[in-house]
Amino acid sequence: MPATPKSPAAGEAAARRKTGRHRGEGQWAVGHFTPLNGNEQFKKDDDGLNVRTRIETIYSKTGFDSIDPADLRGRMRWWGLYTQRRPGIDGGKTAILEDAELDDKFFMLRVRIDGGRLTTGQLRVIGEISQEFARGTADLTDRQNIQYHWIRIEDVPEIWRRLEAVGLSTTEACGDTPRVILGSPVAGIAEDEIVDGTPAIDEIHRRFVGNPDFSNLPRKFKSAVSGSPLLDVAHEINDVAFVGVRHPEHGPGFDVWVGGGLSTNPKIGVRLGAWVPLSEVPDVFGAVIGIFRDYGYRRLRTRARLKFLVADWGAERFREVLEKEYLGRPLLDGPAPEVPVERWRDHVGVHRQKDGRYYVGFAPRVGRVDGSTLTKIAELAEEHGSGRLRTTAEQKMIVLDVEEDQVASLSAGLEALDLRVSPSPFRRGTMACTGIEFCKIAIVETKARGASLIDELERRLPEFDEPLTINLNGCPNACARIQVADIGLKGQLVLDDDGRQVEGYQVHLGGALGLQAGFGRKVRGLKVTSDGLPDYVERVLRRYLEQRTDGERFAA
Ligand code: SF4
Repeated sequence: MPATPKSPAAGEAAARRKTGRHRGEGQWAVGHFTPLNGNEQFKKDDDGLNVRTRIETIYSKTGFDSIDPADLRGRMRWWGLYTQRRPGIDGGKTAILEDAELDDKFFMLRVRIDGGRLTTGQLRVIGEISQEFARGTADLTDRQNIQYHWIRIEDVPEIWRRLEAVGLSTTEACGDTPRVILGSPVAGIAEDEIVDGTPAIDEIHRRFVGNPDFSNLPRKFKSAVSGSPLLDVAHEINDVAFVGVRHPEHGPGFDVWVGGGLSTNPKIGVRLGAWVPLSEVPDVFGAVIGIFRDYGYRRLRTRARLKFLVADWGAERFREVLEKEYLGRPLLDGPAPEVPVERWRDHVGVHRQKDGRYYVGFAPRVGRVDGSTLTKIAELAEEHGSGRLRTTAEQKMIVLDVEEDQVASLSAGLEALDLRVSPSPFRRGTMACTGIEFCKIAIVETKARGASLIDELERRLPEFDEPLTINLNGCPNACARIQVADIGLKGQLVLDDDGRQVEGYQVHLGGALGLQAGFGRKVRGLKVTSDGLPDYVERVLRRYLEQRTDGERFAA
């Protein structure tokens, strides 16, 4: 069991010994229970989970203008709600205007889909809510969630009622909480699976999500569990990740990674060198999240992710604290995961399951679908499969359990909806965050830009045949993982040829996950305007096609 937060009496000396740092990072474990910033203050004033009652009994009846500011821009996130950007404010004003000036009176609402598991019944409900309450919006995220926009506070209780009636929720979909638990989208069905992590995901959810003991973390806590040899959950960039491996003596289990994360100070997670059997994954998850809650830095939001503590402690000390203070026993040493040969980790295309049936993965453009399309996907999955679907960590979806004689008809149905089962590398490998359309932090447009870039590249480079990732962010944050893309595009204002400030991107080249995980190089001074983006990417890719040697993959 995780340790209880230390009292002030636990002492600063112990803290210095354990953390190697003096007071000042706001760690509860060294007695820093006095909030050191506004976020810590509103969390101390009232648990974010408690805002649900106020939404149901007050705000949904009295309207947007009656919402307490600390709830509006703070605690509502604990239930997946963010205010969305007021339309028409250009990116140049993003950093200048106050939140209140940027706020629209509508919300983004995130539905958490742990492990990416959905039934057709659930997808129908998600589609209906989209059409009835969200102006048709529904985006697939790169964390297996689905996000709505244009949500009115008045409608939130009814949306929750409908979601929860089919076993879905928005609980802790945002906020300083245990966010959605990523899982292999082919858990339980893949022929090459090492171990099915689904029971661990369910148990973690049961124990830790919506639990007031873990609802005031220093910041968000991202996690992933996958027993697929494809390493299909971006484990390198999660706060904690469990990756399928075979122990030479004990068989299938998980290798534990901690301290990954992107944003403005990116870090690849580190291995603890520990092997954990499936049944013990929830305990180890609890120990890691307990360390984060108790020892995590709370003074500065920019240093409050687990990756900073892991960077300061190192893997050895982290494992020691985990074992001695939180688990009360040592963990077994274990092997590292093998490097996958396959570069695509998105499960797009037609693949055989271990039971002889097939799964069919498909690609919308940059994760953008809509309520009516989701309803049609549910119909197709019901006609051709068993009613099971999955979302992926690459903004894609999968229909499971398709008999061989149904594959062609399902694929044709999906393609007719512009959901590609055999997409170009550009459709398959391009992701975009929400961007300026709805995000208050954004500086530039991303979704439409990403979609038009795909169309342009398909037209200009039909011969391009390599796995390739192009990720677009609307600001310096990393919601679309720009640092680990072959071509990462960080939204910012740039100067055009006439010296005018226009939307554009700082280019990062050569990032990767999996095969050679690492961050792209920020090419000094290499910025492109949004209008010049297709020309730039075409130039880079043509140069690669002309100069590549046998067996060389694209890595700019
Ligand atoms: Fe918003 Fe920036 Fe995240 Fe994009 S990367 S969704 S613009 S915060």
